[in-house]
Amino acid sequence: MEKARFGGMTGPLVEPVEFLTRATANYKQKGIYPYCDACGEVVHLYGVHTPNPQTTSRFDHPNMPDGADPLDDCVLADRNPRFRGLQPDGFDDARGKVLRAQFFDPTFLAHAYTFCRNLCRAKNLLPGQFRSMVIRADKKRIWSYVGIPLWAVPYILLTLENFQATSKNGQEYGFHFVFQKPRGSGGTGISALWSSRQICKISKVFSDNGSPVQTGDNPYPVSESAFVEMAGDSSWVTPALLRALIP
Ligand SMILES: [Zn+2]
Repeated sequence: MEKARFGGMTGPLVEPVEFLTRATANYKQKGIYPYCDACGEVVHLYGVHTPNPQTTSRFDHPNMPDGADPLDDCVLADRNPRFRGLQPDGFDDARGKVLRAQFFDPTFLAHAYTFCRNLCRAKNLLPGQFRSMVIRADKKRIWSYVGIPLWAVPYILLTLENFQATSKNGQEYGFHFVFQKPRGSGGTGISALWSSRQICKISKVFSDNGSPVQTGDNPYPVSESAFVEMAGDSSWVTPALLRALIP
């Protein structure tokens, strides 16, 4: 990635060359490190002193621990194709705190759940899976994404889990969700989902080959009205079920 926080999460965002200019080559001895703006991990400097002018300097994340789920990877690490093109424009934790509280308002939470459940098809989304999607969203600080509207959060939740289903002829298969951003939707990051003039879509694909699952509503539009429509009636969601959705 191109920028990291200088010396700590409250430090300014700097590019590799600027980091080295400020911290000097002895930065490790001085205990001054670059930190990822998304996950807060210490990242490595790469390509600053290379003799090859073709090499672009950058910050790299440390390797993921053995056995770690690739869905737990940082969105800024740029090594999981599932997260490609989904980088936020930045983080706003004060706004994120408010948005997260609104998300867990019982009425909205019930809507978010029935939306996800209806797109997955009822029995393919267990309350525990919804909870694990929320835990992942917390780690990724989704609510703090700059400019994100509340209705976009459930769409992103769907991309943070793998699902299982059984076909009509009894065959088990895995599926997951990916975003489709139209050409010219503006920007390279995730904000195209809510700021693009052309509507983005969310597509349900087979996990083994990436081809779309053939259903009448796949891919599905990404918009506030499409969210409300797919959520439908959520008045049947009981307080006990709501409690099971909260980590
Ligand atoms: Zn990171």
